[in-house]
Amino acid sequence: MKIKVNDVHKFYGNGDSRVEVLRGINCEIQDGEICVLLGPSGSGKSTLLNIIGGIEMADAGCIDIGEDCTKRMNEKELTLYRRNHLGFVFQFYNLVPNLTLKENIEVCAYLSKNPLEIDELLRTLGLYDHKDKLPSQLSGGQQQRCAIGRALVKNPSLLLCDEPTGALDYQTSKEILSLIEQVNRKYRNTIIIVTHNDAIKNIANHVLKMRDGMIVSDYVNENPISASQLEW
Ligand code: ADP
Ligand code: MG
Repeated sequence: MKIKVNDVHKFYGNGDSRVEVLRGINCEIQDGEICVLLGPSGSGKSTLLNIIGGIEMADAGCIDIGEDCTKRMNEKELTLYRRNHLGFVFQFYNLVPNLTLKENIEVCAYLSKNPLEIDELLRTLGLYDHKDKLPSQLSGGQQQRCAIGRALVKNPSLLLCDEPTGALDYQTSKEILSLIEQVNRKYRNTIIIVTHNDAIKNIANHVLKMRDGMIVSDYVNENPISASQLEW
């Protein structure tokens, strides 16, 4: 799914403490690409991702999603957009602690019109042998795989990942990035990865760099490398 961000502004706070955290963002993300959104902490990456995902609203400007525009959508249409087209992955896995891995994924499939087959998805995630375990019985990397499964099971056209490796060690981070690459090849979804880790830009087709609420660099990476070759 193609995304176009048109002159988006966002403010937080009131009166003297009012600050503009997004100061006129323009960018275009093409269907099927892996886009890495880079920038230091506080630069506005999560705010932009949340606005693209329809979980926060811009104060000015709008997001075009395919043929639609979030600004013209009412609450119900926004809910359907999030439900049918979007998957979100966060730094902390947000699994339901008293459900097994498989159940964690199943509860996310219920609302979907066209869910993926769960056992096959568990195999893709490398979790099939652990499907009946509780999150507390798993490593951080396995929990993040499950979180990716929860986001993916409804077969979203757009997968938004906010610091997906932020809580993981070096080796596990590379494994999770490899999984994201594999998912992109298999399901052909558009993926946005937010990170403050500069090295991760090397696996992207498209790199956006933010600073102080603005995009300071926007380029196509002609020769992305695979995550297994990444070093930092
Ligand atoms: P990043 O993800 O790049 O670290 P964020 O988008 O989370 O940046 O935040 C950008 C700026 O907006 C920061 O200065 C942050 O403190 C501020 N901010 C984020 N969310 C809120 C909020 N809900 N209320 C007030 N300020 C916020
Ligand atoms: Mg953030």
